[in-house]
Amino acid sequence: MSETKSTCCYCGVGCGVIVEHDGAQITGVRGDPEHPANFGRLCTKGATLHLTVAPDTRSQRALHPELRTERGAPRQRVGWDAALDHVAERFAAIIREHGPDAVAFYGSGQWLTEDYYVFNKLTKGLIGTNNLDTNSRLCMSSAVAGYKLSLGVDAPPCSYTDIDATACLFIAGSNTAFAHPIVFRRIEAARAANPAMKLVVVDPRRTDTAEAADLFLPLLPGTDIALFNAMLHVMLWEGWLNRDYIEAHTEGFDALKRLVREYTPAMAATICGLPKRDIELAAEWFATSPATLSMYCQGLNQSTSGTHKNSALINLHLASGQIGRAGAGPFSLTGQPNAMGGREVGALSNLLSAHRDLGNAEHRAEVAALWGVPEVPAVPGKPAVELFEAIGRGEIKAVWIAATNPAQSLPDQAVVHAALAAAELVVVQDTYRHTETAAYADVLLPATGWGEKDGTVTNSERRISRTRAAVPPQGESRHDWQIACDFARRLGARLDKAELAERMFGFDSPEAVWNEHRESTRGRDLDITGLSYAKLEADGPQQWPFPAGAASGRVRLYEDGVFPTPSGKARFVATEYVATAERPSARYPLHLITGRLRDQWHSMTRTGLVPRLFNHEPEPQLHMHAEDLARRDLADGDIVRVRSRQGAAVLKVIASDTVRPGQCFVPMHWGGNAMAGRLGINALTPSAADPTSKQPELKHAAVQVEKLTDG
Ligand code: SF4
Repeated sequence: MSETKSTCCYCGVGCGVIVEHDGAQITGVRGDPEHPANFGRLCTKGATLHLTVAPDTRSQRALHPELRTERGAPRQRVGWDAALDHVAERFAAIIREHGPDAVAFYGSGQWLTEDYYVFNKLTKGLIGTNNLDTNSRLCMSSAVAGYKLSLGVDAPPCSYTDIDATACLFIAGSNTAFAHPIVFRRIEAARAANPAMKLVVVDPRRTDTAEAADLFLPLLPGTDIALFNAMLHVMLWEGWLNRDYIEAHTEGFDALKRLVREYTPAMAATICGLPKRDIELAAEWFATSPATLSMYCQGLNQSTSGTHKNSALINLHLASGQIGRAGAGPFSLTGQPNAMGGREVGALSNLLSAHRDLGNAEHRAEVAALWGVPEVPAVPGKPAVELFEAIGRGEIKAVWIAATNPAQSLPDQAVVHAALAAAELVVVQDTYRHTETAAYADVLLPATGWGEKDGTVTNSERRISRTRAAVPPQGESRHDWQIACDFARRLGARLDKAELAERMFGFDSPEAVWNEHRESTRGRDLDITGLSYAKLEADGPQQWPFPAGAASGRVRLYEDGVFPTPSGKARFVATEYVATAERPSARYPLHLITGRLRDQWHSMTRTGLVPRLFNHEPEPQLHMHAEDLARRDLADGDIVRVRSRQGAAVLKVIASDTVRPGQCFVPMHWGGNAMAGRLGINALTPSAADPTSKQPELKHAAVQVEKLTDG
């Protein structure tokens, strides 16, 4: 038996794992005691990773390329040459006839940094369209936009060690106990070591995280900005501001001060549905604690005001000087294992390598020079929701989807399914073949999965870890970056760019890709020119920035109070509270909140293969307050139809005091079977998105609930 060190491929905690194997089959997994993200701990998902690649899951694996040339016909097994030549031929024909913006790529936070880099280069460098977006758009794009707006660049300033050092932990919009379990174990340990540490939890739902709180603020869905502005109002009124910090290190406070004067605790108490005294107490603990750390995730991000929710929370840190010190600062938790790596390489439709902006001509020229292409197009690509809408309208004719399942995970699923059915060409590149999206594939390309891939990932605290292959690729599967390089050469030959494609995609290893990515970061805020695969091998995972000559990466940013903005100062963002896109009405009287279960991951492509992970929650249930059940003559276990403005789902109800009257909750993991006319949970959620980050409001819809059958 052998052991190989790698990382867990589920959430952004980025736990280190030791993979046990015999060289051909992975037989077990345990936590890596030396990895600084988890020190040997694993949650239920991580501890069962080996079961997602067990021999009995082989029938679910994509093991060889498949192709159909006619819609509706079954796909046939083909060789790699036939599959990639067919796709290259179709892409080239569409590009020649309709231009490069008629094709698109949709990737994933499951990609390794090397995969992201190559696909970004293929799309924006070789093809000449910015139509590359990823499911990180659904996950972290509001945090990206919030950091840039308030602090100048997309860089989480904190580290997990800040949990150990904080005196007040303020968790907003995150059920950390379920979604980031190993971070929550660390929080529990920190509280045990320091019983005086305060835990404040802001969430519409009484989650397991909220149960642990010293102060729980069950605000009405979407009212976070009113709460944060009112907390700032209290800080102002009580003299709890850090005037010296505001004066020396920030700008824009006067405009914010004028705005938050209106947000009295009494007013916010009405908007948020909270006791006024609890708002005041939260402000007091936040501002006056020796060190306050905030952690936040999809509850803030998946919102039509997600960017401003992030900035309104960062305002509190800047106003009270709770940033740039041990245990203090705003700390976004990343959802996916390598959403951060995607941000680093600029693999979103509005970004470029190393935190460069597509809208910046200088940045475009720098990236074009690095890639050796005449230019990177200036026109932004389509973000996730708009990308699929454009497919539905026929503007985008061919889409290549990799390592993600948009037919389950995007909102307003009826629109997404219709788009996939209408597209001229759907290419799906995945490790598994049983996803809702793969059902639409004209071409299925088998990609290697966890335990078979080499490369790097970056977790929530900017820590780069190596992911290592323990066993060879299954069947004929290939690595994502290899497939992109092979395709690029075939496409280049058909677009009279053969020589360029050879030069751009001559990578022979993930390390060669990573070295080019590293070069792109030189002189940037995330400079990693002091790192190498060899250094990661010798010294283990490292945090960025890590420029050449540095002895170590940076644990904490902005300790000197200097921010990467033109003035060197952080920016207060004066922002008004706006309601959710959908508001309850006579026809749709209930707030529906969506969220995650402890033992499932995203659309359950992998966790759904592990029977024991269904012991916690075997099926999706609609959690409703007893008052709402009684009003509808419903009882525990009844089957109901939940209907929103977008669509409907049939679910079992369960009485729950985790939600208030007027609200209900459903876990988001379950998809449907479009071929059988059933869509999943996201058939209910709206496609309305934040105007800046373009992140859709997946957390909320207004719904009606009606009894379908008895018992
Ligand atoms: Fe994997 Fe996240 Fe669990 Fe760690 S906390 S084992 S990274 S799922």
